[in-house]
Amino acid sequence: MKLVFATNNKNKIKEVQKLIPEHLSLLSLEDIGCFEDIPETKDTIEGNALQKAQYVKSHYGYDCFADDTGLEVSALNGAPGVYSARYAGEEKNAEANMQKLLSALSEKNNRTAQFKTVIALILNNETTLLTGICKGEIINKKRGDGGFGYDPIFKPEGFDETFGEMDLDLKNRIGHRGKATKKLLDHLSNKFQ
Ligand code: IMP
Repeated sequence: MKLVFATNNKNKIKEVQKLIPEHLSLLSLEDIGCFEDIPETKDTIEGNALQKAQYVKSHYGYDCFADDTGLEVSALNGAPGVYSARYAGEEKNAEANMQKLLSALSEKNNRTAQFKTVIALILNNETTLLTGICKGEIINKKRGDGGFGYDPIFKPEGFDETFGEMDLDLKNRIGHRGKATKKLLDHLSNKFQ
């Protein structure tokens, strides 16, 4: 049985393929001939994940899952949230995004924040949302140059290092995306045991 992961990131596909039940073979967007930009126009993380999965299902007919992630900052009422990638503009510049966030928080005492990943799965005409959350705080100054996006200014709860300083295996274990992926794998294993 074929299941599409709505991404063109081969590494992500390889990683997940290793973990899912054998008789499910994972296809990328490229594998199904989908080269257009899939619309992501909703105003919630859930909405965008669902929109991407539904697009693949309705245009290509495959069962599918898609993910979407955002950083939600308490003192900013959950911003940048679904707009995390283009917080400082359409060019999606990570450095500019971090600088804008640090400025927005410069007068704030509450620095708590969380990353949220939502995976929307459409399987056998059933839609399931799987969520992974990683709580933490936004520090005052960048630390570390690993990872991507907001990693150098996000310090997960219970750790001294930022995601930017953290070993990638550890980030994947405790992080939002890893947690959502684990829920997806548990869900698929239950369905196909
Ligand atoms: P996407 O939905 O995975 O493309 O994530 C949207 C945006 O959220 C990215 O462009 C990053 O700015 C931010 N983001 C997502 N995941 C992470 C992460 O693990 N670390 C830091 N920033 C992230």
